[in-house]
Amino acid sequence: MLKKILVANRGEIALRVIRACKELKIASVAVHSTADSNSMHVKMADESVCIGPPKASDSYLNIPNIIAACEIAGADSVHPGYGFLSENPNFAEVLSDHKIIFIGPSAEHIRLMGDKVSAKRTMTDLGVPCVPGSKGIVETIEQAEASAKQIGYPVIIKASAGGGGRGMKLVTQPKELSESYHAAKTEAESAFGNDEVYLEKYLLNPKHIEIQIFGDGFGNAIHLGERDCSIQRRHQKVLEEAPSTVLNEKQRKEIGLICAQAIAKLKYAGAGTIEFLYSAGNFYFIEMNTRIQVEHPITEEIFGIDLVKEQIRIASKQGLSFKQEEVNFIGHSIECRINAEKIPNFTASPGLINAYHAPGGLGVRIDSALYTGYRVPPYYDSLICKLIVHGKNRKEAIAKLERALKELIIDGVDTTAGLFDLILKSDTFLKGTYDIVWLENFLNETSQAK
Ligand code: ADP
Repeated sequence: MLKKILVANRGEIALRVIRACKELKIASVAVHSTADSNSMHVKMADESVCIGPPKASDSYLNIPNIIAACEIAGADSVHPGYGFLSENPNFAEVLSDHKIIFIGPSAEHIRLMGDKVSAKRTMTDLGVPCVPGSKGIVETIEQAEASAKQIGYPVIIKASAGGGGRGMKLVTQPKELSESYHAAKTEAESAFGNDEVYLEKYLLNPKHIEIQIFGDGFGNAIHLGERDCSIQRRHQKVLEEAPSTVLNEKQRKEIGLICAQAIAKLKYAGAGTIEFLYSAGNFYFIEMNTRIQVEHPITEEIFGIDLVKEQIRIASKQGLSFKQEEVNFIGHSIECRINAEKIPNFTASPGLINAYHAPGGLGVRIDSALYTGYRVPPYYDSLICKLIVHGKNRKEAIAKLERALKELIIDGVDTTAGLFDLILKSDTFLKGTYDIVWLENFLNETSQAK
């Protein structure tokens, strides 16, 4: 087993990893910027090292400083959490050069999946169904025109290096293509330092359904069912649930098996998420994330498996703690991502937390680094609290969520918690028939209704 893990992250996910370390009796090292000296992850870890000033590029993204922190603390491994350096193949390589274990897949697999064009090509070759699209990168406007014509409008232009829902351009008619193509390239260059783009069929009203997988690095892989992450704003997930209301057992097994087999063939090591759009009974691969996801707790809740501990086991070359046939899910789980943002414009709302009260009771879980007196800094992601519920069925999970939202108090900053009261009252949500554009339409309608 690993002996000392440095957690190269902050906030709730750093805390999540530190908790797993404590249960496994592994020493934990927090790193922090000067803005995060009083953060919960620093207080909870066994040791902490300051890695630079508030700006993420000078601290949480600063590879030399993180390596130095590993050496100062004597860490034998690094857990990257999500975001920051979690999908940076160079980071994985530099760690390996320093004989430090990266808790995640190989640099080669991160690179393969980090480029969406090579990811789609690989998945197609492995028998995973993909969204129809251009054959690789589209290098000229002429190629874009030919490709769009062949795919059929509407199409979506996406950055090969894309992420975080940024840099996508929807094109509904041929006359919009040229402007959108050039705009997408410029945006991709400034956001990701890489202007390569590709085209995909724009699927109308699909759901976003993703499959949790694990590979042991020796050619064995398993899946842990799906998460429905269709409730999105600006292509960013807002609420997730597992299982999805639209899949039956047969579909779940089929797509799970396809994913697990693909991952096994790759000899992938660690946790991963294979993301699909789902429409009219068909799955279309869009991308793979080679790290733990924000929404991983809903899978943990229904399967009763600690995904972070499994990551650590795999990095320790101990394999998974279970076999596919030994696991099954129970009940239903929902996660709400609560951000420090002011509705209706979702503008960031950093500041001092005057009062914080976390809900509790059977089936209610909070993953958060908040405490009364904590100051939410303005420099990072605005996610401050994940409220997760688990019930014996969807109805019970919704009732628990409704109750837990009423108990939650976050005073001092504006939050998006109120949004979930609205969502829970909507018929479409209650029926589970929502798709990826539903929330934005719902928000427009409710703001007009006021
Ligand atoms: P990112 O890596 O930036 O998050 P993804 O490829 O995962 O980008 O897509 C994010 C979201 O954008 C999806 O969940 C979906 O809502 C929307 N999207 C992406 N591709 C398509 C498509 N081909 N048709 C319709 N919507 C899409």
